Amino acid sequence: MNYPMIIGIDDTDSKEGMCTTYLAAVLIERLKIYGTIRDYPLLIRLNPNIKYKTRGNAAIALSLELNRIKDVQNVKQTVIAAVEEMAVFSDENTNPGIVFIERECNEMKSDLALFSLRAVRDVLKISEAENMLVKYGISKRGFKNKRGLIGALAAAGFALTGLSDFTYELIAYREKKRWGISRDIDRNSVLAADSATFPDTWDTVDHENERIVFAPHSPDPILFGIRGNSESAVRAAFSMIKSEPVERYVIYKTNQNTDMHLIDTRIDEVANDRSYILKGKVSKDPISIEGGHVIIKISDNGAAIECVAFEPTKGFRNVIRKLMIGDNVTVYGSVKDGTMNLEKIRIDSLIQKELRNPICCGKRMKSRGKGQGFGCPKCGAIRKEQEIEPLERNIQTGFYEVPPCARRHLAKPLVRFRCHET
Ligand code: ATP
Repeated sequence: MNYPMIIGIDDTDSKEGMCTTYLAAVLIERLKIYGTIRDYPLLIRLNPNIKYKTRGNAAIALSLELNRIKDVQNVKQTVIAAVEEMAVFSDENTNPGIVFIERECNEMKSDLALFSLRAVRDVLKISEAENMLVKYGISKRGFKNKRGLIGALAAAGFALTGLSDFTYELIAYREKKRWGISRDIDRNSVLAADSATFPDTWDTVDHENERIVFAPHSPDPILFGIRGNSESAVRAAFSMIKSEPVERYVIYKTNQNTDMHLIDTRIDEVANDRSYILKGKVSKDPISIEGGHVIIKISDNGAAIECVAFEPTKGFRNVIRKLMIGDNVTVYGSVKDGTMNLEKIRIDSLIQKELRNPICCGKRMKSRGKGQGFGCPKCGAIRKEQEIEPLERNIQTGFYEVPPCARRHLAKPLVRFRCHET
């Protein structure tokens, strides 16, 4: 007989090093003697707007099948010891949390499904996680201010209740002696792996901006991560990459690239630190501001919101620059300080006509003053009204997205929309 246990872990790292996924990778090896991992380890991305996050607001869950019930305590001690050994406690923003789910009931499942989704879409209090843990007698270990219990419980909740949409990421880790020095990865092998496996893998290379984007530049243990829609796709790409030695690797199942963070609503319902899909009409022409950022305003039902394509979104800004007052759009992104940070846009309709001064003698006629029509400076002809003319838009309706170098972990790339639709 097997004994199931779900382990959730979060908030062990700091900007100077470590990574909760590496801790999980080490733990997976240490826990092997007690049983097997069911399905895949889960890598869950939570609300990307949480101010306490170190980088990508990740949390981890492992579903274990223990061989012997008497190993329950050994497993818990192994997990707690790994966190005590590896978490960066010196960082004031590191507040680790661990939860162990050992039994389940339907009420707990539905409460946890909601809690986990809220952790991706909403802002939670530590007490909400603690209340849930007490209500269902879930054993836990929280360190310092215990904020990590939020992410740990949310990740464990997804392991219990399942993900409706998911992708995979194969994360390869570096040898410890190389942490902090530049990564040695053969560029040509990465390009070859990408072209052999795209679109089943994505965000390995940003072709438009000529960048390899699957390897971080931070001093953490990650060498690179390959994202894709199946284990076989990420393995195929991995087998082609030449690099410095890989100390270990793990294939995670993840909510990355699923748009799980987006709430489909109306502009007047928007709150800061959440992410949305909003429909509206462009109500102010795009403006470029210092730093290269481009802003548009969209309105719907008397409410309006400014949406920004920041400089790092590179060529995506050219799409936004081409929008005009009257265009209908659906925007996707996170709201901070009352402004949406654009991740994607769907142009639903473009205005195709505009009112312009009539043409005479090969030139535009000049206004003669308010209500006095238009005159031709050459022949003196007068016309009463402007004329409706077709507009050259140089842009089409449809979806546009930020490039891979600017993609947020949870944002669903268009290549996944296409794969699903066909
Ligand atoms: P890494 O990606 O390297 O693992 P990180 O970016 O995941 O780092 P953490 O160090 O885990 O960042 O910090 C995020 C903190 O915010 C955790 O304590 C987590 O429990 C908490 N948290 C996550 N989601 C929410 C939420 N929706 N509401 C409130 N707190 C949250």
